[in-house]
Amino acid sequence: MIKDIINTLNKELPATVKLVAVSKFHPFESIEEAYEAGQRIFAESRPQELLAKVRHLEEIRLERGDDYMADIKWHFIGHLQTNKLKMVLPYVSLVHSVDSERLLTAIDSWGAANGKVIDVLLEPHVASEESKQGFSPSEIYDIMDAASSDERRYGNIRFKGIMGMATFTDDESVIRRDFSALRDIHEKVRLSYPSVAEDFTELSIGMSDDYPIALEYGSTMVRIGSMIFGARNY
Ligand SMILES: *Cc1c(COP(=O)(O)O)cnc(C)c1O
Repeated sequence: MIKDIINTLNKELPATVKLVAVSKFHPFESIEEAYEAGQRIFAESRPQELLAKVRHLEEIRLERGDDYMADIKWHFIGHLQTNKLKMVLPYVSLVHSVDSERLLTAIDSWGAANGKVIDVLLEPHVASEESKQGFSPSEIYDIMDAASSDERRYGNIRFKGIMGMATFTDDESVIRRDFSALRDIHEKVRLSYPSVAEDFTELSIGMSDDYPIALEYGSTMVRIGSMIFGARNY
C-alpha cells in the first residue's frame, strides 16, 4: 500500500521535484516500508519524535552490525524552539521551517559552535490564518541584505530557499494566491541577491491535498504525509 503510493507519486512528479515523505505520528515500520520502495527523504515535525526515530534506527544498526538505511535523509518541518536545536540539528540535512530571526540566529550560533553549516529554508507567512508562524516578505529581504552585505551575517547558514503553506481552505483561488505569493518571494530573492541565488534553488510547497496545484507554481519539494502513510492519530 505505502509502496504503491510512493511508486505512483514518483511517476507523477517531475524529475526536478523531490518527494519528502512526512512520517510524523507514524511508526518506524512505515518508514521502512517507504524506504524499501525507494523513498529516501523523511520529514518530522517534533524534535522528540525525530530523535526517537533516529535512536531507534541506531539501535537496529547496532543489532544488525551494518549501516542499515545508510542513505536515509531526515528533514525537519515543524516549529523549532531555540532550546531544542541540539535534538534536531545534528541529525537533519535540511530545516524547512525557519520562521523567525531569533531562530535563524540561534541556528547560526549552533553551527558556529559545532563547526557546521546548516541548510535552511525560510518560511514566510502568506496564509490567511492568524496563527501561522513565519516571516513577512520584507523580513526575508532584510535577512538577505544582512547575509549578502559586507558584514556577512549568518556565516554558518546556507540559505537553500523558501518553504510555505497555503491557507487551509477548499477555495482553490486562495490556495493559488498563496502559492503565487511564495513563488514571487523565492524569485525576488533569486534575482535580487545573486550571491545567495546559487544555493537558493528550493521552493518547498505542496502537501497531500494541494501538491498538484503547488507543482504549477514551481514547487521543487512536495511534503506529503497522509496520502502516503494514512491518517494521523494525534
Ligand atoms: C504535516 C505536515 C505536512 C504533511 O501534510 P499532509 O497533509 O499529511 O500531506 C506537510 N508540511 C508540514 C509543514 C506539515 O506539518
